[in-house]
Amino acid sequence: MFRQSITLGKLFGIPIKIDVSWILIFAWVSLSLGSQYTRNISEETPTTLAWVAAVLTSLAFFASVLAHELAHSLIARKQGVPVRDITLFIFGGISQITDEPKTAKAEAVMAGVGPLTSLILAAVFYGIYRIFGLVSPLIRAPLLFLATANLSLGIFNLLPGFPLDGGRVLRAVLWGAKHDLRWATRVASYVGQGVAYLFILYGIFLAAGGDWLNGIWLVFIGLFLENAARSSYSQLNISSLLQGHTVREVMSLDCVLLPQQLTLDLAVDEYLVRNPRRCYLVNGPKGITGLLTAHRISQIPKDRWPTTHISEVVIPLSDVKSVTPETNLWQALQQMTSEGVNQLPVLAEGELVGMLTRDKLLTFIRDQSALLGGDRKGQW
Ligand SMILES: [Zn+2]
Repeated sequence: MFRQSITLGKLFGIPIKIDVSWILIFAWVSLSLGSQYTRNISEETPTTLAWVAAVLTSLAFFASVLAHELAHSLIARKQGVPVRDITLFIFGGISQITDEPKTAKAEAVMAGVGPLTSLILAAVFYGIYRIFGLVSPLIRAPLLFLATANLSLGIFNLLPGFPLDGGRVLRAVLWGAKHDLRWATRVASYVGQGVAYLFILYGIFLAAGGDWLNGIWLVFIGLFLENAARSSYSQLNISSLLQGHTVREVMSLDCVLLPQQLTLDLAVDEYLVRNPRRCYLVNGPKGITGLLTAHRISQIPKDRWPTTHISEVVIPLSDVKSVTPETNLWQALQQMTSEGVNQLPVLAEGELVGMLTRDKLLTFIRDQSALLGGDRKGQW
């Protein structure tokens, strides 16, 4: 979903991104606020001012969404759970928190702090509205909107369906009660799907009654939540399948050793084209010096290939992201996903001992789930 996102910068060391779909919702909120504000201003107030107020209100709203996500992320980081980034998108914001919280209590706090932030913001905006609301309609309307929008954001997220914050709190309570994370996730994600279906039904009901814009919007939110509820459970399934397994069980050394004096044109003709493999290693006098990748070769102009040796384009092992044979497989899979690569070299004390490829990892997951198949069938 977040392939085309723009990084705005960092807050507290956390990268803040916006997905292209966010531009749509930002434009829509600004436009609907603008058309409302221009209708309600007095004759002598310039229309431009109403539009400026609309855009500023819209920005303040998304800053509130960001504050909600930041609250989650900062608490996560404080509890030692890594945060990759925060992305704003069409349905709000998402903190990309790359691991599950360690305890039920940690999860409850991490989940609860988001809606709490929204409710506090709602109260603050409402307080300012009560003090300054009478000054002008262009101050009153934005403050009232920000108060109600934050209130809705807080309440919406407190709905008890996973992956909404309320669903996470529910999961934490069930997890704490029965000490079974898988069962707790399953129940919370069932409730999550239930909440999602209610959204879809209510959306259809609204649309049928003529309010088709809000109706369709709710249907889309419902579909998004339904999908998220499902995938968060299957993700946990994969993580529990990989639990207790290490890279050593899956790694292989399906590599070709190339002599370092080989030129690029020969390397391409003789190996990359004729004998395609997952990995190419460059062999020097003292053993393997690093990796050769097609991407690296493509950066060299073709007319220089006959005179360039592969030792000049080798990527030293110390420069590549790697895992060790003892790395947990779930961690390795997440690392692969976050780096956007299909293989990771396996190093032990600086020496290459194998390669972990996505294909092998997927086959492993398939075999494991076939082994444990019985209780899993028909769950979805
Ligand atoms: Zn939240």
